[in-house]
Amino acid sequence: MTRFAENTTARVGGPAGEWVIAHAEQEALTVLQQHPLPAQEDRAAARDTLLVLGGGSNLLVSDAGFEGTVLQLAFTGISAEASEGTAVVTVAAGADWDETVDWTVRRGYSGLEALSGIPGSAGATPVQNVGAYGADVSQTLLDVRAWDRAVGELVTLEAEQLEFGYRDSLLKRTTVSGSPRYVVLSVRFALDHRGDETLSAPVRYGELARSLGMEANAVEDERRAPLQDVRDKVLALRAGKGMVLDDADPDTYSTGSFFTNPIVPASAAAGLPEGAPRFPAGQSESGEDLVKLSAAWLIDQAGCGKGFGADLTEGRASLSTKHTLAVTNRGTASAEDLLTVARAARDAVRQRFGVELHPEPVLLGCSL
Ligand SMILES: Cc1cc2nc3c(=O)[nH]c(=O)nc-3n(C[C@H](O)[C@H](O)[C@H](O)COP(=O)(O)OP(=O)(O)OC[C@H]3O[C@@H](n4cnc5c(N)ncnc54)[C@H](O)[C@@H]3O)c2cc1C
Repeated sequence: MTRFAENTTARVGGPAGEWVIAHAEQEALTVLQQHPLPAQEDRAAARDTLLVLGGGSNLLVSDAGFEGTVLQLAFTGISAEASEGTAVVTVAAGADWDETVDWTVRRGYSGLEALSGIPGSAGATPVQNVGAYGADVSQTLLDVRAWDRAVGELVTLEAEQLEFGYRDSLLKRTTVSGSPRYVVLSVRFALDHRGDETLSAPVRYGELARSLGMEANAVEDERRAPLQDVRDKVLALRAGKGMVLDDADPDTYSTGSFFTNPIVPASAAAGLPEGAPRFPAGQSESGEDLVKLSAAWLIDQAGCGKGFGADLTEGRASLSTKHTLAVTNRGTASAEDLLTVARAARDAVRQRFGVELHPEPVLLGCSL
């Protein structure tokens, strides 16, 4: 029986009832036609019979596993049409995301380079509007082709219809307990293509800009660097934080960031210590200023430093020894072990700062 522990980056989770690997889009469509969207109450009670899987890098499945059918999207393919400064790149859902970024960088198409090194599939990137180093896919995504399980037909959803937000989209908001309404089959990106010039998009993240020898506050055109340099630097920075998959490094046996950065009303952030990182994050519906806090900082300052939690799980799980935002499997952890560490970090932040942390990965058959 195929187990999630062997097919997810957190390396935990029990078996699935059935496991279908679709190597062609048509194979996926056949399975999808057999699994229309269940009624809302069945979805809420996690009674969907279908789970869609890409690379398993943002998923934490319970030790009991999942009784239904796992549909793993493994069909690949990438092509581009370049004209007048723009390259429209079409990529199949099952394509490896980092290989996709590498492909665009090698052709001199800019816009995805800061998203180098993120694990998983191209089709999953719009789901939580994957982002890093000041970039996210909403900045370049044109549209997605998807199967709408509610009506049983193919649809094209344009970027505006996807209602992207911070680690959020319509695709994510219409997924209930791991049960998605829309299954992305391919994604199109509009990237910059300036002929022989192979410079990156303007770097938008201080740490990355500094490591490339740029002034973080310089004008846009002074924050461009050769595409390959930006990709290499991002990969190096990420590796230093355990954020590039590495079989030899248990700090990467995780779902990446376990918590999103909390967005709270400015009044709620006012009581935080002076040094707490905070960034403007728009306004609430009632017009109050919102600020984004750093979950990693809050966890660390709540007494849960790097490596925290090993004593709670006899060493089987802990926060990464490189970064406080990743809950890691030290080799023999269960899903419950990872949740034990995550709960302890969440509770410590709540007690110390009164701020609620929310999980970033999809939790299936378990909760915090
Ligand atoms: C070491 C590490 C570093 C990471 N760094 C980052 C980072 O910097 N930024 C970031 O944003 N994320 C990061 N992540 C999280 C993760 O890599 C991304 O969320 C990624 O896009 C998940 O892709 P996946 O194919 O593995 O999705 P899966 O884990 O297979 O699926 C995740 C969810 O998306 C759904 N899904 C998957 N494919 C589709 C599809 N085609 N259509 C509809 N729904 C689908 C699944 O049903 C599930 O609910 C990191 C993870 C790890 C392990």
